[in-house]
Parts: sequence; C-alpha cells; structure tokens
Amino acid sequence: MNWLKKTFRLGEKIRKIFKKRPTKDDIENSDWVSCCKGPINRKELEENLWVCKYCGKNFRISCIQRFDIFFGQNRYEILKTPMPSEDPLNFESYKDKILAARKKTGQDCAVMIAKGKINGIEITAGAVNFDFIGGSFGAAETEAFIFGVQYAINNSTPFCFFCKWWWTKII
Ligand SMILES: [Zn+2]
Repeated sequence: MNWLKKTFRLGEKIRKIFKKRPTKDDIENSDWVSCCKGPINRKELEENLWVCKYCGKNFRISCIQRFDIFFGQNRYEILKTPMPSEDPLNFESYKDKILAARKKTGQDCAVMIAKGKINGIEITAGAVNFDFIGGSFGAAETEAFIFGVQYAINNSTPFCFFCKWWWTKII
C-alpha cells in the first residue's frame, strides 16, 4: 500500500468518526446526560429532582418540570398571562429570537404562572425557563410576573417565584 492510499483511508476513518458524533437534537433527546462522573440516566436524574447526586449540580428545568415537582403532576393549573406588544423597542432580530424560543420551549414567554395546592393551601407560583432566551425579562415576562403577584394578592395566596433554575424566593 502506498502512502497515498494510507492517507486516503485515514481521511475516511476521520470522516466516519465525525459522522458518528451526536447532533444537538440527539443529545437533547438522549436517555443520558453528561456530568462529573460521566453519563447519568435521565430517569435517575429526574427522580433526584434534576440534581447530580455526586457533585450537586442543579440541571436546568423548564417551568412545567418545576411545577410538576412543586405541586405534583397534573395538580396545578397554568394561568394565562397578558401578552404585550412583542417588540416595543424594535431590537434587531428580537422577533426572530422570540419565535425560535417559542418553538423550542412551547411557551409564549420565559415566565409561566400557575396555581395549585400544597398541603391544602392555595399557592400561586411562577417559574422562569432558561431555555427561553436565557430567561431574560422582557415586556411579556414582566407582565407575567406582575400578573402572578396581583393574582396572589387578589386571591390572598402566598406567591412563590422560581427566579432561575436554582433560586427560590417566597414573598
Ligand atoms: Zn455531577
């Protein structure tokens, strides 16, 4: 075998390795998540409330996952929050980012408000989804937050807001 053939075969091997690498979608839909000690089963991680049992890392969770943990599955009601103008300041490509984030998360904005009961006590809760443009607060998120606070005042319930995926603030 001459050097040219060897080089060509090496090139083929490298190409195969790159082809086998998982895509972003593959990683997101996989049953395994990577952390300090290598792969962890997603189911196992979910049972441990999305915290790595080895290093204590808190994985990002969506608003629905947060409410599922907080209230219990199907034991809460999502409240419709007001939707203001999409792009009041006319930021460049902001509308496209919002559309992409909506498609990715299935949410209208980064904040979701829900009501439910814990130990028989009515609670209004809110959560932020980091996957929606990093959970940044625009007009819609602010409106949703204010709506949640006002709902809690009007119905005399506590208001619990999960600002980021690991912080909790009880007002
Ligand atoms: Zn870890």
